[in-house]
Amino acid sequence: MAAQKSYKSMVCPFCSLHCDDLIIETSDNNIRLTQGNPECGKKISRHNINSQSRTSATINKKKTGLTEALKKVKKIIEKKSEVLILNHGTDLSGLRSLLTFASKYHCIIDHITSKFLFQNIGIVQRTGYIATSLMETKNRADTIIIFGNNILKKNPRLLDRILIPDASLCVNPKKKNIILVGSFDKNTINSISRKSNAINVRIKLDNIPDFLKIINNNKSETLRFITKQSLVKINSIIKKSKYLVSTWTASDFSNTKNPEDIISSISKFIVDLNITSRAACMPISGPLADSTSAQALTWLTGFPSRIKYSNNSFKHNRTAYNSEKLIENKQVDTVIHVSNLSENELIMNKNIYNIVLGHPNSKLNIEPDIFIPIGIPGLDHEGIMFRTDNVVSVALKSVRKLKLPSTQTIFNKLI
Ligand code: SF4
Repeated sequence: MAAQKSYKSMVCPFCSLHCDDLIIETSDNNIRLTQGNPECGKKISRHNINSQSRTSATINKKKTGLTEALKKVKKIIEKKSEVLILNHGTDLSGLRSLLTFASKYHCIIDHITSKFLFQNIGIVQRTGYIATSLMETKNRADTIIIFGNNILKKNPRLLDRILIPDASLCVNPKKKNIILVGSFDKNTINSISRKSNAINVRIKLDNIPDFLKIINNNKSETLRFITKQSLVKINSIIKKSKYLVSTWTASDFSNTKNPEDIISSISKFIVDLNITSRAACMPISGPLADSTSAQALTWLTGFPSRIKYSNNSFKHNRTAYNSEKLIENKQVDTVIHVSNLSENELIMNKNIYNIVLGHPNSKLNIEPDIFIPIGIPGLDHEGIMFRTDNVVSVALKSVRKLKLPSTQTIFNKLI
């Protein structure tokens, strides 16, 4: 029987909350969450190795050794003229080495979800922004407005740990008001109602700017998507609130007509509330180390994403270095996909040379020219990542012995 090992206080790398209190068990390098949220348990077990996992490097589908694969990568990079490094999620040391590599080979760097980052940053640049941290929200917020339908699924412990925790320094959870804007399922509303006062404003996400305009003007007029009675109730809650927090994840707005308008309206709503009360925004970043990438790139280059090394420094251009457009318009001839936090499908363009430094369970739309399996920070090797509110960095431990190299190891060998 395989030896079992238990770990307490494991830091979870799989969403931007980075909970640090997980109790897990490993057996034969299989990881199991022994107590806690079952959704998180499912997220974690998706990273276990199975019969389909790719634990060896391949060149044109054929298994090869790591040294051979690296030699081939070097050869290709030296010949190609425009190389894009597309980050699908990696840890801090991976990013540092990726930047050093990019500066040697004059590469472009982008994060796969940078469009969401720029939606939030755009508001900060244009109008300013009042933000808060997870801990402030946990301990001080008496009213929380959740915008969007999937934020709680993407961050399974957001409710229990931050929004309505059992223990909070200043607010009794039973007295908290949770206003859910969007279509939330009955189970979610019922589970929130058991702990605090929940109200679901069931409107289309496209209607958020109109909804907030009316709330902010404190008018009791009826909109076609909300009853007068609900409006009066919400107005009264907001008026009495001492510390209101708005939270959302930008990817929830990706199917709306104007995501930037929605985020901008939420930000304006918060700024206006601060005239008479206290309120703040708490956007939740994505699970692909989005915050870690933006933080590391900003300190080291001055820009959060969409950069290229040329003339001895990194230059930023939000339009010219947009990976989606570069690939679509075939303005790059090689893409190095770096992905060690998710097994989600990596989409590659068959007209471009594709190199994948990937999660061993990576799904791939087409076979890449070169695949090199890399370890997962927090499971296979130590690492550092940033929590969604950017104020805390967490240290990840190694809890299994698969001997997969880290992103840092691979880039260091290529420099
Ligand atoms: S909420 Fe996120 S960080 Fe926390 S345990 Fe679940 S998946 Fe991991």
